[in-house]
Amino acid sequence: MIQKPRGTMDILPGESEKWQFIENAARNVCKKRGFNEIRFPTFEETQLFQRGVGNTTDVVQKEMYTFIDRDGTSYSLRPEGTASVSRAVIENGLAYDTMPLKLFYIINCFRHERPQAGRYREFYQFGAELFGATTPSADVELIALANDFLKTLGITGIKLHVNSIGCPSCRPAYKNALVKYFSSKSNELCETCQNRLNTNPLRILDCKSPVCSKIAFDAPKTTDHLCPECSAHFEGLKARLDACQIEYTVDPHIVRGLDYYTRTVFEFISENIGAQSTVCGGGRYDGLVEQIGGPALSGIGFAAGINRLVLSMENGSKYNQKKNSVDLYIATLGEAASVKATEICSELLKKGYSAETDIVGRSLKAQMKYANKINAKNTLIIGDGELESGKAQFRNMENGEQSEALLSDLEKLENLLK
Ligand code: ATP
Ligand code: MG
Repeated sequence: MIQKPRGTMDILPGESEKWQFIENAARNVCKKRGFNEIRFPTFEETQLFQRGVGNTTDVVQKEMYTFIDRDGTSYSLRPEGTASVSRAVIENGLAYDTMPLKLFYIINCFRHERPQAGRYREFYQFGAELFGATTPSADVELIALANDFLKTLGITGIKLHVNSIGCPSCRPAYKNALVKYFSSKSNELCETCQNRLNTNPLRILDCKSPVCSKIAFDAPKTTDHLCPECSAHFEGLKARLDACQIEYTVDPHIVRGLDYYTRTVFEFISENIGAQSTVCGGGRYDGLVEQIGGPALSGIGFAAGINRLVLSMENGSKYNQKKNSVDLYIATLGEAASVKATEICSELLKKGYSAETDIVGRSLKAQMKYANKINAKNTLIIGDGELESGKAQFRNMENGEQSEALLSDLEKLENLLK
């Protein structure tokens, strides 16, 4: 028996409806705010992610699915969407369109991680990116989109955490302060964080190990080291979040894992799903487009993890499971009746109804059992006698009422279905 790869999942009927509910909510909120869908390849040249996501990140160093193609090119399955979207924006000349450019996507992503609840090797993201606007209003537009989306799902216990990690002009000084602080305690840090001290000290702030997070608690805060421009930007952001009545906490430990972030970073964190609790993360990445060979074009984006949202829905949401149902099921006896039923179903489907008839060759009794199983709202039974008389028994399965249907009069049959 061949099984699915570790860390992947089959999403079966009964469960897939929850995913559709989330995806529909994403599409609806994007439409309202003028975000349009972009689709892009599942794999890209590895160097796009090395340059776009960053060589010092866990994602690029340890988690990518990389393969060498027949012509020797190194490709990787996308571990996230932002680098690909930025590549597509440059390659298709969208960077020269009217700004802002507002895009969204719903994609599968691949990361070679240790599978556990809320962490998979193939997982799904709903993401949005906003290019060509550097104001705090743009940040709030995007955060509000994520907030609308989560509110539409009606999942409770999700909190917004925001922070500013400064820009290339104020971050070096902050990094120095941070390295100084952590160096004095470096032998207590976990092994990964001891390395991070040299490569990516900001990441120590969001290390999940209890010892590191305890040490990080008293570390210098980014918000105390912002340059006047970054500080004004952050104040502008908070004022507008207040204006939209979006609740938030300023959290100096939000730094985000990927290298490309500047100024605003944020996460929506769920209280109900255990350790893998960030359901949506994002931030501003003003240098990214240039870094991968494009023009100077600012951007801000987020990605929400759909798997984790499905997990949090188990603790209450606006999703209520409606059973799929069929307007009419036609049970048949004999070849001629089956042909007639096929004809009626085909006509009803053209008119927009849902209709099914037996295609397995079941007995009449088994067909009626099946009609119940698929939640048929109405049934019609056709045999040789009905064909001869042109009349058949129609039954409303919800209230049990029976009536006579004329097989030659489709309009009357439609009236019964209404
Ligand atoms: P984490 O700290 O949980 O590893 P991350 O910082 O690596 O998250 P991002 O790259 O920001 O995550 O991805 C955005 C969102 O995608 C996350 O907030 C999370 O909801 C989801 N996500 C990331 N990695 C996985 C995974 N392996 N399995 C399921 N969902 C994931
Ligand atoms: Mg991660």
